[in-house]
Amino acid sequence: MSEVKQKPVPRPAPESAPYWAAARERRLSLPKCEDCEGNWFPPSRTCPHCLSARVTFADVSGRGKVYSFVTFHRVYHPGFEGDVPYVVALIELEEGPRLLSNVIGVAPEDVRCEMPVEVVFEDVGEATIPKFRPRAA
Ligand SMILES: [Zn+2]
Repeated sequence: MSEVKQKPVPRPAPESAPYWAAARERRLSLPKCEDCEGNWFPPSRTCPHCLSARVTFADVSGRGKVYSFVTFHRVYHPGFEGDVPYVVALIELEEGPRLLSNVIGVAPEDVRCEMPVEVVFEDVGEATIPKFRPRAA
């Protein structure tokens, strides 16, 4: 039996479909509340700040900083066999929300908390995944 070596791809839920569609167009777009103007991540049907159901999506800067991170050395899925070691990080966007992603374009041992980063988009099969690379502060 052959081993599956393709990476798993996101399967958008109705709440997150606009996020993934925007990523496909190289835009980072987060849910935004039409009542209190708060934004958040991950997407949900109601605003976590004021519970309004008037939710839309708005593009954000794509700039942020590494809030926290870990380096994966073990292969948990055969699709990632060629990637280890790789960094999984919580990115704090300039707009406030934090999202889980990868930091790429830098050696894992050089990643630091508070490191300024910017979004880049990586195509994986039919999905496009927002990832982050270092940027000048
Ligand atoms: Zn709100």
